[in-house]
Amino acid sequence: MASLDQLPLRPELQGRTPYGAPQLPATYRLNTNENPYPLPAELLADLGAALGHAALELNRYPDRDAVALRTDLARYLSRTSGEAIRPEQVWAANGSNEVLQQVLQAFGGADRTALGFTPSYSMHPIICAGTGTAWVDGHRRADFTIDAEAAAAQVREVRPDVVFVTSPNNPTGTAVALETVEALYDATGGVLVVDEAYEEFARAGTPSALSLLAGRPRLIVSRTMSKAFGMAGLRLGYLAADPAVVDALQLVRLPYHLSSLTQAAARTALAHTDALLATVDAVKTQRDRIVAALPAMGLSSVPSDANFVLFGHFADAHAAWQALLDRGVLVRDVGLPGWLRVTAGTEEETGAFLTALGEVARDQRPTLGE
Ligand SMILES: *Cc1c(COP(=O)(O)O)cnc(C)c1O
Repeated sequence: MASLDQLPLRPELQGRTPYGAPQLPATYRLNTNENPYPLPAELLADLGAALGHAALELNRYPDRDAVALRTDLARYLSRTSGEAIRPEQVWAANGSNEVLQQVLQAFGGADRTALGFTPSYSMHPIICAGTGTAWVDGHRRADFTIDAEAAAAQVREVRPDVVFVTSPNNPTGTAVALETVEALYDATGGVLVVDEAYEEFARAGTPSALSLLAGRPRLIVSRTMSKAFGMAGLRLGYLAADPAVVDALQLVRLPYHLSSLTQAAARTALAHTDALLATVDAVKTQRDRIVAALPAMGLSSVPSDANFVLFGHFADAHAAWQALLDRGVLVRDVGLPGWLRVTAGTEEETGAFLTALGEVARDQRPTLGE
């Protein structure tokens, strides 16, 4: 096999490594923020029937514009947010990663810049690199919150074409106030993407940026069925925005990008929304259980509105990560000095994590207050 240096690779991709949460064998896999609960039996039965039905037409291309699915997604967003979201405001693709890639293909690209407030979702800069979009790190406070005024000032200075704000943020769990979203929108002439992959896990009183869409044609709210819906294997992400944004994305999307099977499975899952989201409260309970258990171990966490907790502070976070793995618990080393991220699992998984962490914290001597 040749090495990458022997290929005429684009210079900005040289020396990069692919995105990768290590997929290591472990008894408790709490590293990729999936919903731990199996899909409800009624949904599995309906999926079998729906996919069988869709298979009868697999000789035909799918609905290129996924109209029925977008109608169902619009109904879900409207019902849960109280905002009237219309199907023509919704766009779907294979995971929100593909949605974001299409956004960058349309609004980023060569000679254009994106800015996001790091630490945040590591795929944002990676998708920028893939689309030739320059990346600028936006600043956060030491407690990982965003200072609205400073952020808006940075946006006015950098003048990015695309601004990302992740709320609740991955890997910190930090929700972003709507006033901050408004300030960023007013500060940019580009598109503002609010990545709400974890919105369903937010604590009461953390509103969605969907309520800001009216009158803001450059605002995009992205969502996914990978987290709260427990359908990471389905690959279905979507956004809500002004219909003009959807028209723009149709200029760059590949024709028939969403297979008939994906559309059928996603619609079937959405018909079972209440059963699927019934596990969200259980996951939030385990998240809050983790947060509550940490101080007794000499550890702390960042306030979380997501289905995971960023915890520390370790003198050597990677050693703590390895020590947890040695005890059968796989968490995520997100590369933030002192911190690790754990996904809230089932009650049993969370219990196993806390037991292992108690032992590790005794050995690793957490460095409080750093
Ligand atoms: C997990 C995650 C996504 C989801 O990506 P999919 O492609 O929909 O699976 C998007 N944004 C953030 C911040 C995430 O953590």
